[in-house]
Amino acid sequence: MSKVDHTIVIGAGIVGVSTALWLQRSGVRVTLVDREGFAAGTSYGNAGVLAASAVVPVTVPGLLKKAPGMLFSGNEPLFLRWSYLPQLLPFLFKYLSYANADDVKRIGKGLAEVMYDTVDQHMALAKGTPAERFIRAGDYVHAYDNKHGFEKDAFAWRQRRDLGFEDEELDQDALANYDPELAGKFGYAVRCPNHGQITDPGEYVGALGGVFLDQGGQLVVADVTNITTENGIAKAVETSEGQIEADQVVITSGAWSSMLCAKLGAKIPMEAERGYHVEFVNANVSLRSNTMVSSKKFAMNSMDGRLRCAGIVEFGGLDAGPSKAPIELLKRNAHEIFPNLEYDSTREWLGHRPSTPDSLPVIGALKNASNVWAGFGHQHLGLTGGPKTGRWLAQLITGEKPNVDMTPYAPDRF
Ligand SMILES: Cc1cc2nc3c(=O)[nH]c(=O)nc-3n(C[C@H](O)[C@H](O)[C@H](O)COP(=O)(O)OP(=O)(O)OC[C@H]3O[C@@H](n4cnc5c(N)ncnc54)[C@H](O)[C@@H]3O)c2cc1C
Repeated sequence: MSKVDHTIVIGAGIVGVSTALWLQRSGVRVTLVDREGFAAGTSYGNAGVLAASAVVPVTVPGLLKKAPGMLFSGNEPLFLRWSYLPQLLPFLFKYLSYANADDVKRIGKGLAEVMYDTVDQHMALAKGTPAERFIRAGDYVHAYDNKHGFEKDAFAWRQRRDLGFEDEELDQDALANYDPELAGKFGYAVRCPNHGQITDPGEYVGALGGVFLDQGGQLVVADVTNITTENGIAKAVETSEGQIEADQVVITSGAWSSMLCAKLGAKIPMEAERGYHVEFVNANVSLRSNTMVSSKKFAMNSMDGRLRCAGIVEFGGLDAGPSKAPIELLKRNAHEIFPNLEYDSTREWLGHRPSTPDSLPVIGALKNASNVWAGFGHQHLGLTGGPKTGRWLAQLITGEKPNVDMTPYAPDRF
């Protein structure tokens, strides 16, 4: 049994549920608190890619030159709610300062550590439980209009290859052989083996939550409003349903995490990179693997009973509702690729990627409260990196050192 008695985990997305399950395995009593329940946030609607080799952040060299043109185009996957610009500026300056080759290399290493064995990490969580059926090992395909498009991405492919990820280039014929559904749609592609897919992210996290409850865990549906401390030690969590006492507190509240940290004096710059999905229910298209449409930066994934197209980065904060233009763009893109696309209905969703300026997650104890742990900031890759993060947090909390250098993820690094 662990010496830690009771831990509160705030946020029941993929990171919080993974943390709660690993803590349970170490003998810790865990209460998960979420204002809506399991998988209510960004973990519900993502593209479902277990993107082990996604080790190239958005902030690549040259972004600063390209971004203004993208913002004004309406056909590019970058949007801004202009009224939000003044609030965004401090984050944006920091974010863009990482768009250089040295930082991108360093960030890539940090991301690889969290994600390289993602399928194994998911299996370690879910094997033998009802959640296992949602995990599918397989390829991740990056599709390009032509070979020139692929060559323009040389920087990113070099980084993936330097970090040990394998791939196979496919010309148009090889791609048609690989997945007849993509025949004639793209001129060039890259197949990345040893990746995977979650066939229904919301159901999957819910099923993992079910395992947590079956093992004696408690879920409290309430809004966390504060964390009470005494001499730098957290004593309790204040919620809309009352106070809950704890030995340890973990903040895994996704894009909402920095607000809770700020209450403890920890300033962690974060922004929500808003993203969207459009689902085509009972679509007449069924893809063999997750496919990233590289020129338009969105992922297509055949999930249980539907084709989900997900992507877009929109800066606009946490409070505004969905915008029309990104959803229309995703629909237009899907119809351009599949002119004969048929389906029963569509479903649309807005989610908030929890993003830090340097694209690395924040994992570790807060300086101002040593029994409060951060586990958030996985930006575009939280489904991929959530299970490893949960494992590391459980090790740290129970006094077992993870076999990895945690400094890239330190909460006080900014
Ligand atoms: C369009 C899109 C596509 C994506 N595709 C992929 C992909 O293919 N692969 C991948 O790896 N990642 C992908 N991502 C990113 C991924 O979804 C996120 O990184 C991940 O879901 C973050 O998980 P989380 O547990 O940190 O946060 P969340 O899932 O957002 O969970 C946070 C939880 O905290 C709760 N909460 C917040 N504040 C409070 C509070 N004060 N009190 C109580 N509860 C609170 C919320 O209700 C929520 O349930 C995508 C994201 C988007 C938007």
